[in-house]
Amino acid sequence: MALYRKWRPQKFSNLIGQEHIKRTLLSSLKSGKISHAYLFAGPKGSGKTTTARLLAKAVNCEVYAKRKTFGEPDDKCLNCKEIAQGRNLDVVEIDAASHTGVDNVRQLIDTIGFAPTKSRFKVYIIDEVHMLSKGAFNALLKTLEEPPLHVIFIMATTEPQKVPVTILSRSQRFDFHLAQRQDLVSLISQVARSEKIKIDKDAVEFLATLSEGSFRDALSLLDQLQSFAYSQITLKTIRDVLGLAQTESIFQFLEHICKGEKEKALKILTDLYQQGVNFSRFCEMLVKVLRDVLLFGANAEVEEKERISKLSQMLTTSQAILWIGQFMEISRQIGLWALPTLPLEIFVLEQTQNQAVLSQEKEEAVIKENPTPIKESLPEMKYWPKVIEKIKPQNHSLWMILQQAQPTIQEEGKLALKVKFKLYAEQIMQTKNKRLIEDIIAQILGQNCILSCVVDDNLPQIRIEEAVIIDGENLQDQIDTIF
Ligand SMILES: [Zn+2]
Repeated sequence: MALYRKWRPQKFSNLIGQEHIKRTLLSSLKSGKISHAYLFAGPKGSGKTTTARLLAKAVNCEVYAKRKTFGEPDDKCLNCKEIAQGRNLDVVEIDAASHTGVDNVRQLIDTIGFAPTKSRFKVYIIDEVHMLSKGAFNALLKTLEEPPLHVIFIMATTEPQKVPVTILSRSQRFDFHLAQRQDLVSLISQVARSEKIKIDKDAVEFLATLSEGSFRDALSLLDQLQSFAYSQITLKTIRDVLGLAQTESIFQFLEHICKGEKEKALKILTDLYQQGVNFSRFCEMLVKVLRDVLLFGANAEVEEKERISKLSQMLTTSQAILWIGQFMEISRQIGLWALPTLPLEIFVLEQTQNQAVLSQEKEEAVIKENPTPIKESLPEMKYWPKVIEKIKPQNHSLWMILQQAQPTIQEEGKLALKVKFKLYAEQIMQTKNKRLIEDIIAQILGQNCILSCVVDDNLPQIRIEEAVIIDGENLQDQIDTIF
């Protein structure tokens, strides 16, 4: 049996994490208060279905049958046992994501009037309830308006925003959170100990990181590792089995690109390919490291602090954001390529080409006497984050406005900045500001260009607070400087 099933908690007291939910549910059960509709919202693997089954046990456990209250199931009576095995006739589970889900909802609504066969309540657990069709929701709503006393609905969803308000307003909602790192670590250690799986402490920590807040993923990964029957699970075993790159190569890869070391970056990809590394995972890990760079910039705690700090000195915030988007895109597409390294190799070549141009740039302003106009079009815009970063120390309020501008090349040597507000355009076009931007573009590209501004109402606006968080300075000061 899969570890996740085997170790599914059968009592509230064995449920790890989600303390707020456990406490509220148990105390209302003990005082005999139940709701006829619950909505469990939260990410996958956070324990929604498990809690739903516990709740079903709690209301139908035979220990409480003759009382007016409910409580922690004993996990011994027939009802508890049957519910745990998924064969109790009064507890019906429906997966709305499957195509039979909708029909099942209609059927259950037809039969809802019948009393439970041998329990106090009929419990309907509807998983991924947001997937129900409009018709099914309407039918469900009718039932929720006047639910029979013997019926309890427990609806689970990963996307509560897709559940109609009319349903939400009739349900008692509980929000499940991603599993805490510490909870994942203790679950993995506990299961490993009981199953006599030998695993290093740092390997447990690493598994917790890989499971990204999902109890189910944590135990599925442990299951996968266990099936290889290693005498001891180590960091290396995990990387080998899951086809993961060493953290070291992630950092080296990014550093080489930042330094414009094309050959070294490409060599890493070749080596990883020979080791059979999963490149989609590799991209995810690149994204994670870049995310840490952003968090580090905002003074948040990160793992591998030294390496992250080093990397953050080589990368601008805007560049890190840009790369995150690109790696996410590559990760999605990687399965489409016969050679999985190819999209990453193209990335390396593009980026190191840019870096090569940048390293030619001199510290002092270089404005050529006979400027050559910009020849290429869109690829030049990769330099835009560099331009903005250079402006930051010289004119802070201009820097903030430029973060919201969208550059487009209109024709050779002419760059137009799209901005949302006329006020922004006026600021940018002030002679000294316009001159500053044009000069910095000339420094970076070694080519001159003429700047203009276009006001576009439809442009999305980046909230000023976000820009301030990145910069870590006081919001009011920023607003004062701009206006
Ligand atoms: Zn029981």
